[in-house]
Amino acid sequence: MDTIEAGQIVQMKKKHPCGSDEWEILRVGADFRMKCKGCGRLVMIPRKDVEKNIKKFL
Ligand SMILES: [Zn+2]
Repeated sequence: MDTIEAGQIVQMKKKHPCGSDEWEILRVGADFRMKCKGCGRLVMIPRKDVEKNIKKFL
């Protein structure tokens, strides 16, 4: 898998309730801070869940 860095846009396997599956990585670490490209909501997701759910890098 590619290295995940802040600023990258990723497509996730799981869709956000708003219908978007694209997320912007804002901060990496034990938890990733991510922003939904559809509705702009910010979430914290554990690194392992992010790695498991990434479909592709955009
Ligand atoms: Zn959303």
